[in-house]
Amino acid sequence: MEIREIQKTQLEFDKEYFKKFWDIKNEKIFIDRLQYIVVALVGEIGEYANIVKKISRDYENLNRNNFHQKREELVEELVDCFIYLIIAANLLNIDLEKEFLKKLEKNKKRFEKYRDA
Ligand SMILES: [Mg+2]
Repeated sequence: MEIREIQKTQLEFDKEYFKKFWDIKNEKIFIDRLQYIVVALVGEIGEYANIVKKISRDYENLNRNNFHQKREELVEELVDCFIYLIIAANLLNIDLEKEFLKKLEKNKKRFEKYRDA
């Protein structure tokens, strides 16, 4: 599945399950929605960071099973972050794949000096 398709699939899901959220009648409501999504995104990043903190803190005592379980939790939180990122892109009505490729070209120039010869 390509990013464009992921965005479309998420938007269809959101409009089916959270119809009212997408009823954006004016700019004020749009800004409220932007704010809601960024707070949710940062919340998910916090959940991800908290698990990394625990893995790091308990590293010496983590057995293989615990580590595997923590890794699964990390994956879930990372996907939560991804979902909110996709929703933010949908709110802004942007093609995330296209914007990513534009930014990649910018970064190639920006980080040219770090490139392996
Ligand atoms: Mg979460």
